[in-house]
Amino acid sequence: MKWKHRLNILVALSTLLIVLVVFWNSPYLWLWIAYIFSNFLLILVFGIVFLRFQYFYPTIFRNIGKEVILTFDDGPDPELTPRILDVLKKHGIHAIFFVIGRKVQEHPEIFQRIIAEGHTIGNHTQNHSLFFAMLNTEKVGKEIDSFSETIKPFLSEKPTIFRPPIGYTNPKIARALKRRRMKIIAWSVRSYDSFKNKEALLDRLVKYTRNSSIVLLHDNLVQTADILEEYILQAKANGIIFANQEHLKKFIHEINK
Ligand SMILES: [Zn+2]
Repeated sequence: MKWKHRLNILVALSTLLIVLVVFWNSPYLWLWIAYIFSNFLLILVFGIVFLRFQYFYPTIFRNIGKEVILTFDDGPDPELTPRILDVLKKHGIHAIFFVIGRKVQEHPEIFQRIIAEGHTIGNHTQNHSLFFAMLNTEKVGKEIDSFSETIKPFLSEKPTIFRPPIGYTNPKIARALKRRRMKIIAWSVRSYDSFKNKEALLDRLVKYTRNSSIVLLHDNLVQTADILEEYILQAKANGIIFANQEHLKKFIHEINK
């Protein structure tokens, strides 16, 4: 949230002022200034990198109900997304797909299937630029709006939920989202599924999934598709209930209130 950013600036400036007055003639003045500046920078970097910190924008990490919400980023993928959809269908589970607009244009039939099977769509930008956090407000807005335009022919309702590429936020992204009244959905369980060790991935997911978790996965990674069913079975055996279409509708309705 923005007040945290303002507070950080205020604390840095006021301590700087005090130090300037008190240590003006001290040989350690520059050391003090460097100390204040590095503290300010450290907090700022934390705010940019960790969504959990909610430094620039309010963020949702958990479901309101007790069901576990699976989220899949960076698709649609022509081979892996269908495999993931098969597993979800078999178990009556619905997920949130944070798709990339450019990939929707490349694989419209897969995207259509995601929608037809009742999953929820989230905005993960048009191009998923690695430098998204370095774009200006106008370009950030363009990335968000181009995504909405891309999926318009397939989906009547414009998604109100957003997940920033790489998970970084800053004041420009916050401003663009606020103007569009969009919500950031983060996660409470990060799978680290980009690491290829399937056993470690499965163990981690089963171990950390709790009631109300939001789980971050990727539907463009083969190891994720490979372990998904086993994960669902083991989590279910632990008493976990995964969200279905109704649960997701309720979740979206609640967060948009
Ligand atoms: Zn992504």
